[in-house]
Parts: sequence; C-alpha cells; structure tokens
Amino acid sequence: MGSALKFVNIMGVRIHNVTMQEALDHLAGMLACGEKGYVVTPNAEIVYLGRRDEAARAVLNGAALSVPDGIGVVRAASVYGTPVKEKVAGVELAEGLLPTLVEQGKSLYILGAKPGVAERAAKNLTEKYPGLRIAGVHDGYFKEDSEVLPGIQSSGADVCFVCLGAPKQEYWMQKNLAASGCTLMLGVGGSVDIYAGEAQRAPKIFIKLGLEWFYRLLREPRRIGRMMSLPKFLLLAMGDRIKGKKWSDE
Ligand code: UDP
Repeated sequence: MGSALKFVNIMGVRIHNVTMQEALDHLAGMLACGEKGYVVTPNAEIVYLGRRDEAARAVLNGAALSVPDGIGVVRAASVYGTPVKEKVAGVELAEGLLPTLVEQGKSLYILGAKPGVAERAAKNLTEKYPGLRIAGVHDGYFKEDSEVLPGIQSSGADVCFVCLGAPKQEYWMQKNLAASGCTLMLGVGGSVDIYAGEAQRAPKIFIKLGLEWFYRLLREPRRIGRMMSLPKFLLLAMGDRIKGKKWSDE
C-alpha cells in the first residue's frame, strides 16, 4: 500500500501537498501493488466547481491523488495559510509515469480527444519511451460507455489516461475505474493533444515564471472569459480567509 499523503483543503477540495517526484513515487507504489485509484489534476476552475457543487466535490475528493495543476490553486493554498510545495502539472505527471510503466512492464490505454489524436499520441510516446506498451486507444466522442469499456477491459491495460475534459473525465473515472480492470486512471484533459503534437505548451520561461496562463491567453484570446475566473477565485479565497470560513472536505 502507498503511504498516506497529506492534503490541504481549498474550498472543500482536497489537494495533496506533494512534489512532482513524491506524486510519481506514490503512483509507482500503487501500480506495483495493484492498489486501484484515480488521479485528478484540478485547476482554479475545477476547484471553484467543487466549491459550488457537492457532487463534483465528492468526485474530486474520492481521488487517490489530487495535484494542483495551476498557479491559481497554488496561490489559493497560500492565501488559506496552507501552502503547497509546488504546482504539479497533469501533463508532466502523466508523462513522468511512463518510465515506471516501462520498468514495471505495465501497459497504457489512451482514451480521449478527437478521432486520430490518441493514435498519434501513442505513436509519439512509444518513440520517446522505448518499451512502452500501448494496450489500446479510443477517441473521446463516444455516446455510451459500453462503446469503450469492453475494449479497455479486454486490452488488459494497467493505466488509462482519461482525456475527456473536466469535469466529464473525473465523473467518468469514478464511475468506470472498478469495471475497467485498470489499476490507475489519470484525468489529464488536453494532455493527449500535447503528446500528439496537436497543441503546444508554453515555452519554459513562461512556465517557470508562473505565466503559462498568460501565454495561453495570447494564443487563444477567446479564453479571456474563463481566465477572468482566476482573479475572482483568488479574491474568494481572500474573502474566506478574512472571514475565517472553514470548509469541510468530506
Ligand atoms: N474531449 C473529449 N470528449 C469530449 C470533450 C472533450 O475527448 O466529450 C477532449 C478534447 O478533444 C480535448 C480534451 O478532451 O482533447 C480536453 O478538452 P478541453 O480543452 O475542453 O478540456 P479542459 O481545458 O476543460 O480540460
């Protein structure tokens, strides 16, 4: 069994206080002993959803590992007086797990994105990580779970990257992990597009300065509405702190 991870409570949502390496070690331990669980990577938008919506909160808090995938969540943790060690980006976490899969002889299923994208991601990842076994892939535009679940089961995949966008992927993992036969599921949204070369991450300097969001805004100005939720999110956290509001994380 993996060791219990410490978490902080951001607006009722559990966020584990781990470095990238600690997160990877924890997942490697779960994989080695077949301990089942799903991984969520909330950003500010998703934590804010968890704040408002009890069902979404329960799904997030049911995860074996929940890492802060965004500077907004990292900053909010500090506002609440419970700082986390670092941002742990889902796209890096999922890729960082691949050498462990190779070492342990485990296989990967990639579920999500538009038709053809998961195939290209699988091809690029197997070229980058020789020995990586791809159990199967499927696009993310199916209507019924029964269109994909038997395929995942029969593939014998140990790990599944579930890339259906949030919060759809989180609900999907909670509902289907047990029946899938997988040990681990990681809900990592647009990562499959990045592995496939369909989308690019910000240059390292933006990531280092905590300005990945700004880079995305420059490339996709239509995201301005979504991004305005970031300052609002931090203001909410400050308001809670001033009022001394306590959040349950059950
Ligand atoms: N996606 C999918 N099925 C859906 C909705 C989205 O496979 O029903 C994929 C989409 O093609 C993209 C990924 O999920 O590859 C992330 O989508 P989006 O950018 O909307 O997610 P977010 O930024 O909200 O995580």
